[in-house]
Parts: sequence; structure tokens; C-alpha cells
Amino acid sequence: ATVRLKGIVSVRPVTKDGKEMELGANISSLKELDVALASGTNGVGLFRTEFLYMDRNRLPLEDEQYEVYRTVAEKLEGRPLIIRTLDIGGDKNLDYFELPEEENPFLGYRAIRICLDKTDLFKTQLKAILRASSHGKVKIMYPLISSVEEVVAANKLLEESKQELQAEGLSYDADIEVGIMIELPAAVMIADMLAEEVDFFSIGTNDLVQFTLAVDRMNEQISHLYEPYHPAVLRMLKLTIEAAKRAGIHIGVCGELAGDIDALPIWLALDVDELSMSAHAILPIKERLIRLNQQDSRSLFEQLLQCRTSEQIHKELSVFQSKLD
Ligand code: PEP
Ligand code: MG
Repeated sequence: ATVRLKGIVSVRPVTKDGKEMELGANISSLKELDVALASGTNGVGLFRTEFLYMDRNRLPLEDEQYEVYRTVAEKLEGRPLIIRTLDIGGDKNLDYFELPEEENPFLGYRAIRICLDKTDLFKTQLKAILRASSHGKVKIMYPLISSVEEVVAANKLLEESKQELQAEGLSYDADIEVGIMIELPAAVMIADMLAEEVDFFSIGTNDLVQFTLAVDRMNEQISHLYEPYHPAVLRMLKLTIEAAKRAGIHIGVCGELAGDIDALPIWLALDVDELSMSAHAILPIKERLIRLNQQDSRSLFEQLLQCRTSEQIHKELSVFQSKLD
């Protein structure tokens, strides 16, 4: 199978009826980038930057971050690189950074909430990303957005960061694209409003499933309730993608579901622009993609929307897949 997959590294990711899908990689280290490049990745749809903060005993300096972001941007040779700003808190903590003891860390002081509070920490990262943007097609993405106010506040700090760089005589892409992760039900419900503030969305299905179903994604005891193919999740996806389409902004998916073969017809039906996944999933997804068509996926999705249970959804999907084999 690996040999056969190697043969499609340079094949364009297009369905039989001509729908092209950008297949990107999620990376959280430089090493993972090499695997992604070997799989013919379209770019990096999610660069998790937490490792820069976790691998040392103090906050990473602007120059240290810049070197890493720049290296990734250059290795991608013009292909897009979406850098997600710091997403700590919840399950990811920093020894040297005092986070409060919390009853519910996943609902607590984390991600963009920390960044909008510790603005020096945030601006250091924004400036490092901005400087890297003069070496490739770099984009910025904010995690865990729940309101328009948060996007406005983050963008204000981004503007300040640009001005500071300008004053220091350092270059950056003045038109850098800014996007947000859609991973909270609140963001889904106001997706039309959020779309007016940004250049792109990327759906974080890992958190979106967790928060839609109120099921802790780390809790083994209730893992059977962590069900991405829940009718409520399908509706969340549909609302988000349709809002992005209406606003004419780029729409991607970067949670685990993007690399799940079974979910592929859903993304085709909803006409998603980009799927970003762990590097080893890129070729298997492409191999399936080129055997599918968007028209059949649309009919299937209509049926999925009628399903009242996850079990029915799984059944419809497996009947659909079995016709391919
Ligand atoms: C997600 O929530 O789907 C996501 C891609 O981000 P993370 O898994 O890093 O929370
Ligand atoms: Mg997330």
C-alpha cells in the first residue's frame, strides 16, 4: 500500500468531477515538516506553536521564534503556512508560567484568553510571525475564538505589532492574512459575523466535538460519548461552512476529522477548500479523494442530515464506502 501511495505524491488532489481540495499538514515540530514535504503537502494548515514554549524553562524570545517560523516558511517554498498563536492552558501547561489552579481548565484561562491578557507575550509572538511573513506565504490563526470582540482585540494588537516592527525598520507582509479557528459552538452560531472580520476559517473539530457534546476529549471513561458523527456536529459543520461560503472566505478543516477517510464525502458535499491533517494521512486521503465525486457526496450528505442517530450516520457512510470498494 505504501508503495502504491508513493506513486500519487505528485498527483493533483481532484475528484472525478473536478473538485480540487488543498491537502495540507498539521505540524508541531520541524521534524514533522519533513514528513509532510515527502507526502507532497500543499502547505501547512496548522502549525501548533506550543512546543516552542514547552521545550524550555522560560518564554521563547522573538528572535528564537522568528528563526523557527522563518525556517518553516522557507522550506515550504511559497506554499501557505498557517501559524496558530499560542494555545496553552487546558491540558497543556508551562512549568515556568503560573497558570491558576482551575476546576475546569478546558473552560478556563487558556489560548487566546491568555494572549489577550498577557499582551507582551502575545505581541512577541505576533512580531516573530510577522517577520517570518517576508520569507513565505505566512498566515496567522487565532485559536479558541468565542466572540467578535476577541478578534477585534487580537487584530488591534496585531496592528500595534506591525507599527512597532516598522519603527524598528524590520520587514513583514503588510497584507498578511488573518484567520480564526472555529472550535466553539458560540463561534459557529455567529460565524456569519466572524467571517466579516477575517480572511479565513479553519474548523477545529477536536474541540468543536468536545464542546458541542460536553465530552472531555481526554477522559477515557466517556470516550464512547466522544462522537464526531453526531447529528449535532454535522449541523455545526454545515452552519460554519455555509457561513464562510456566503462571505466568500477560505474555509479549511484542521481537526482529526479532516484526516478521517469516512468524513471525506462530507467535506466534498459542503465544498470545503482545504483539509489539514497529520502528515501520514495526506496520501491515504488523496487516494480516496481521486476516486470520489462531489455530486454523489452531495446526495449522501442530504441523507446524513436526515439521520437522527450517530449509528444511522455511520451506517450511511459505510454503505457509501462499500460501493467504492
Ligand atoms: C482542534 O481543536 O480541532 C485543533 C485542531 O486544535 P487542537 O487539537 O490543537 O486543540
Ligand atoms: Mg483546539
